[in-house]
Amino acid sequence: MAGQEPKELLLCCALQNAVKHGGVPQAGAVIGMVMGAHPELRSRAKEISALAQEAIADVAALSVDERVAKLQVIAPDMYASLFEKHEHKRALPDLEGAENGVVMRFAPNPSGPLHIGHARAAVLNDAYVKQYGGRYILRIEDTDPKRVDPEAYETVREDSAWLGLGITETVTQSDRLPLYYDLCRQLIERGGAYVCTCDNDRFRELKMAKTACPCRGQAVEKNLELWEKMLDHTFREGEVSVRVRTDLNHPDPAMRDFPAFRILDSPPHPQVQAHVYPLMNFSVVADDHLLGVTHVIRGKDHIANTRRQRFIYDHFGWNVPVYRHYGRMGIEGVVLSTSQMRLGIREGTYTGWDDIRLGTLRALARRGISPDAVRNAVLAIGIGETDISFSWDNLYAENRKIVDPVANRYFFVPDPVTAQIEGARPHTAHALLHPNDASRGNRTLECTGTVLVPKSEINRDVSMLRLKDLFNVTIAWDGTPPSFTYTGDSLADARAAKAPIIQWLPAQDCVPCTLLTQEGEIYGACEPAVKQELGKVVQFERVGFAKIDAVSDDGVMAYFTHR
Ligand code: GLU
Repeated sequence: MAGQEPKELLLCCALQNAVKHGGVPQAGAVIGMVMGAHPELRSRAKEISALAQEAIADVAALSVDERVAKLQVIAPDMYASLFEKHEHKRALPDLEGAENGVVMRFAPNPSGPLHIGHARAAVLNDAYVKQYGGRYILRIEDTDPKRVDPEAYETVREDSAWLGLGITETVTQSDRLPLYYDLCRQLIERGGAYVCTCDNDRFRELKMAKTACPCRGQAVEKNLELWEKMLDHTFREGEVSVRVRTDLNHPDPAMRDFPAFRILDSPPHPQVQAHVYPLMNFSVVADDHLLGVTHVIRGKDHIANTRRQRFIYDHFGWNVPVYRHYGRMGIEGVVLSTSQMRLGIREGTYTGWDDIRLGTLRALARRGISPDAVRNAVLAIGIGETDISFSWDNLYAENRKIVDPVANRYFFVPDPVTAQIEGARPHTAHALLHPNDASRGNRTLECTGTVLVPKSEINRDVSMLRLKDLFNVTIAWDGTPPSFTYTGDSLADARAAKAPIIQWLPAQDCVPCTLLTQEGEIYGACEPAVKQELGKVVQFERVGFAKIDAVSDDGVMAYFTHR
């Protein structure tokens, strides 16, 4: 559509819309198509809106066949694109053995709220369950009481719901300790595990020398007896563990007889009274098997665990799920470490788990990132094995697609200065709430001659400004501060003079507004009508999108979303 006059563009879009959907096209849809492809036309919204009506009338006068014929002639590409198959760009690679449905799981540790790193596992597994049908289990992995935050049981559930995960059931591992104990006994009986009372350092030396420790050769009966002693408190923390019998000659020492159970005397578990806990590799295998998990999508950092887990599957003779391991994802610019976040909150550095500087889903939500944007950004990253760094720009682009059509537009003047405009008679500005949809109406701003403008726009390089949707002013640097003079209403004059078109506010009718960004707070003022947008994302013209977080008699607090 490049290089065409707006009138022609509108006609092409109106025709394409009519051929695609039948009937007479809606003005909003046609204007939206044109503005979407040509944002530079947004400042000419009134003119474009009038031209759109003309184009629609022209199309309405044609028969269906005439519309097709005309579109083929004036915009063959747009005609052809109607028949392109819109392959789901984000289609994930097929999973083997998934044809008859899948059982998958999202298995976070309840150590804090979910963050953008968790979102990848959560959304990818979810997308496959939605693609193939089946069950999606939220499994709360809380068998390490040192890493349990009692509040996280609830926050993990809430965050999963916010992400739109199609969870079909939730299980909590601490509820399942008797199942793991039972399986441990079975594994010992099968000769797949033994109870090891060696000193840890001694065991490590032996392991590095590919040598069996004395406990490895114990009879099954002896192991069962020691296991019962573990359970009946005969042993204390650090004195004993259950080890999986693997391959002492395995080239990777981490694979050699790794631990499956341990004793922890403290801290107490917030959900259950226990002192014998399975380690992750054991409880994950037990549950993946017991819950019938067919496919596991997880990060490359679990590859060694996948290898370890294989030994347990083999001892039991169980089927192994299909695994996919995606590459590492570096996430810059936000704090993700749960312990760092918790400490910062405790010390007052961060306001809470949804502080704008954190990478939690709560923080993203608070600043107006939609869950669908997170999903789409994560799906676009996919399950590739290559290590990547997370692109905030892509997340913002996804979010912009969602918020741009719905966010109302307002003026926010950061760091304002007052300009008294000589020669300005009272003027009323009518500014569109949305540039692509005139039907949403206008905001009305009454200018009596004194306005607030952003300080950053007033400098000696600028001799003329256009106050958007109002009029033009000249700036004379004949003193400090400079003087401002009304110089006509014509937008064409402002364009010809290359005058910056800036946002402004009537000095007598605006409210204080603080815009909270990741870099700090920006103080300014905004239109009073912003107060009606509590909880919504708006666009502060020329500044960016923001979520209206709080309103009070003192003004507005907004969280910056992105540009
Ligand atoms: N709870 C484990 C984790 O958050 C996940 C285990 C798994 O995906 O197998 O790292």
